[in-house]
Amino acid sequence: MELVRHAYQQVIDHVTRFDQIPAEAVVKQDVLRLGLRFSDAAMNIAAGFKPKDYFIFSFDLIEIKDMQNSEHLRVPEEIRISGGELGLRPTVISVRINPESPYHVDLVDGKITLLCDGTAMAEVEYHPVPPFYHEALASGKPMGEIAPVLEWGYLIYLTAYRMCQYFNKEEQCQFCDINRNFIQQRKAGKVYTGIKDPAEIVEALAHIDRTDDKAKAYTLTGGSVLTNLQGRGEVDFYVRYIEAIEAAFPGRWISKAVVQAFTQEDCQRLKQAGVQIYHPNYEVWGAELFAKICPGKTRVIGFESWINRVVASAAVFGGENVIPNFVGGVELNTVCGFKDVDQAVAHTREGLDWFMRQGVVPRFTTWCPEPLAALGPQPAPPLEYFCKLLIAWRETFRHYGHKVPPGYGEPGPGNAVFSVSAFMDVLDNDV
Ligand code: SF4
Repeated sequence: MELVRHAYQQVIDHVTRFDQIPAEAVVKQDVLRLGLRFSDAAMNIAAGFKPKDYFIFSFDLIEIKDMQNSEHLRVPEEIRISGGELGLRPTVISVRINPESPYHVDLVDGKITLLCDGTAMAEVEYHPVPPFYHEALASGKPMGEIAPVLEWGYLIYLTAYRMCQYFNKEEQCQFCDINRNFIQQRKAGKVYTGIKDPAEIVEALAHIDRTDDKAKAYTLTGGSVLTNLQGRGEVDFYVRYIEAIEAAFPGRWISKAVVQAFTQEDCQRLKQAGVQIYHPNYEVWGAELFAKICPGKTRVIGFESWINRVVASAAVFGGENVIPNFVGGVELNTVCGFKDVDQAVAHTREGLDWFMRQGVVPRFTTWCPEPLAALGPQPAPPLEYFCKLLIAWRETFRHYGHKVPPGYGEPGPGNAVFSVSAFMDVLDNDV
């Protein structure tokens, strides 16, 4: 693990140097890349708030077996920071556990506070436990296991299949720990469902439908199905969840699916089932890096085919509703990535330009070098990279005159709830 010194001075310097993006975005990216540690007192208070549900990957910088204070059971899903010397507007940030992080959540004068290198930076709030988390499911499983919420209550996250068949031949995406996280969660004694039943998801959503007005969208996702799962191919497997949900609650939430890059015909099936927003994640730009980082996707679909399918799917969903993700920073991994920040940003900008000029707006999540991923534990990419990436993303977005991506809530600092990167925080509040 990189030993971070003078992190406080560094983040303040970046806020000054990159003053064309909001300070909130700079701080958020730094917290995401370095992770968080919590004092006992801060974790004791978190017991009364929404916990980290491990909705798909671990998104931690250490394994559960190495957590000395059972952090995996005690930290909140997200923190919302505000105030401090920078006068930060409310900023929602996903919690990634790292006991060596310079960012520390602790009590100062009785208030939950974010400190960096020991300097208080902002006040911290935790998200309340949503009322529906107290509802009982017939299976006895917790609601937060079947239908957890993220993004400060905005998004219901439905991981139907907690494994991915690309792991079967060790050709998983090299940043991904989905199967290994599944195993570590089970070893740690967590109720963690490998394949959820559509009926149990509908049962959980019925509670949300009845008791909640905050969630505005759901994401249906899971690992890739290469041969078959329960006798079904990938499209059939995922379509039946959407059909079940939309039959029970037609149009109740914005519906999103994170699945592979399908042919137009298969996209049509998703659309007919009720998917509004399609996320065929390309993960990293460029055939060479894609082949190294996503060997399974390369073998089964191929880079050119993947990106061309993404663009072709706009004819089915509408360009604004096709939002492929990439993993921001993974192109700087130490195994096969760039050594230079500017080269990495220029490379990734090329991909942004390619998609955006064809009407598709990618978004990114912040790479979390999880120890159980094939790339292994690694130093975080520099904060400079994330600041430059946000600038490149927004410049390209504005250049092509795109509208705010749907399905993420309100844009802009103080409004954005997307918690795993600051792409929504760098947009204007009134776009
Ligand atoms: S397709 Fe890649 S990122 Fe998605 S679950 Fe499988 S290995 Fe992980």
